Amino acid sequence: ADAVAMAEQVVADLRDRCETPPSLLREVASEMAREMGAGLEKEGGSRVKMLLSYVDKLPTGREEGLFYGLDLGGTNFRVLRVQLGGNEKHVINRESREVGIPPHLMSGSSAELFGFIASELAKFVADEEKCTAVSNAKKRELGFTFSFPVKQRSVASGTLVKWTKAFSIDDVVGEDVVAELQKAMEKQGLDMHVAALINDAVGTLAGARYYDKDVVAGVIFGTGTNAAYVEKANAIPKWEGELPRSGDMVINMEWGNFCSSHLPITEYDEELDKDSLNPGEQIYEKLTSGMYLGEIVRRVLLKLSAHSSVFGNIDHTKLKTHFLLRTPHISAMHHDETPDLKIVAEKLEENLEITGTSLQARKLVVEICDIVARRAARLAAAGLAGILMKLGRDCGVEMQRSVIAIDGGLFEHYTKFRKCLEITLGELLDDEAGKSVAVKHADDGSGIGAALIAASQSQYS
Ligand code: ADP
Ligand code: MG
Repeated sequence: ADAVAMAEQVVADLRDRCETPPSLLREVASEMAREMGAGLEKEGGSRVKMLLSYVDKLPTGREEGLFYGLDLGGTNFRVLRVQLGGNEKHVINRESREVGIPPHLMSGSSAELFGFIASELAKFVADEEKCTAVSNAKKRELGFTFSFPVKQRSVASGTLVKWTKAFSIDDVVGEDVVAELQKAMEKQGLDMHVAALINDAVGTLAGARYYDKDVVAGVIFGTGTNAAYVEKANAIPKWEGELPRSGDMVINMEWGNFCSSHLPITEYDEELDKDSLNPGEQIYEKLTSGMYLGEIVRRVLLKLSAHSSVFGNIDHTKLKTHFLLRTPHISAMHHDETPDLKIVAEKLEENLEITGTSLQARKLVVEICDIVARRAARLAAAGLAGILMKLGRDCGVEMQRSVIAIDGGLFEHYTKFRKCLEITLGELLDDEAGKSVAVKHADDGSGIGAALIAASQSQYS
């Protein structure tokens, strides 16, 4: 009984530390909105970088022609081809291929990573159907979705500021990633023009805007997290140079680096951060994205096991291995509806070699998943509320419709995360705003968005 009491205490402490009452979330939202302003004010004005994307026009639906997209996220890499038919027809044809990124390439050299990307792209281009082939006069055009913080000087160039997620290739930092890609493509004999460099949040915004004019922001909850939205160019004091004709500028927030004293941070988060590839950075991302949620739960389970005997006398080797418990595993356990929590038992056994668990222990595990995922979803909702606040769309009367397009594996597959995010956003908006704001899943926004932006920036249009 004592063992159980100790375990319950660990969980009770976690629950306390992870609480996110609406008052706290409102503070987080206001601070997000404030940091957005500070980041727009001047270079280095905030941890939230508010990078200019140089995308000053989003797709309208009138784009025509064949375009390529390339999407380098955190886990997968995708190539895609779309045939755009203009106003009535929209996307006539679309093909894509997804390839896992071999883990050794995430910490190898620039030449290896971009060589791999270019060779996969070359294979994909090689199967281009002869009937859809572009006319000889035109070079093929490509939009490159590169989901890491990049300092841009134009829509089709940008230097890597730093790696995030599981990537760490020193010789790319400070380099123009488009030039690196272009070099690798030349080596492959691929004659293609990179018309746009964007990230997945900008791509999601563009992909959703193509179909719906009311989309104001694109947000990712995948391996990492980020957001992009449309800002008035004259509301960006740090902007130097000529203002775009459209009067708009898409801002790549890089909100994963947000941090606030209001964030409910636990000992587990502190240790995760300390052991990470980027200590002190991407704190909001470490609380809200797929790369980390499983790892937080693993750390809690380890503490639980070390301080009580709920799991019996088990070998801790696996449980001590960083990142062995992944977010899809905690999602599966969290959604387990079998009366005896059979799936929880399976996942614990398969992944952590925790065998013969009691039902009581399994219930505690589900509760831990719930606490960690709920905190993530509620903080995610607070971030969205922050953007709406910045846009003046969080309260008021007779408001314009605002749609936030969301993509990413965490949002797409973790149902309880998604539901909790949606409900919490409702709690944070007043009644009027609640009616005018919608969240929608933008399926594969990031891949197609790159091709669409390439089309709208096309040198031939
Ligand atoms: P990326 O961020 O690499 O572009 P995705 O948007 O597809 O890729 O997100 C992948 C991430 O989504 C994974 O790292 C994982 O954390 C999360 N994820 C994938 N499947 C699930 C799932 N079934 N349940 C919860 N999270 C998932
Ligand atoms: Mg992605």
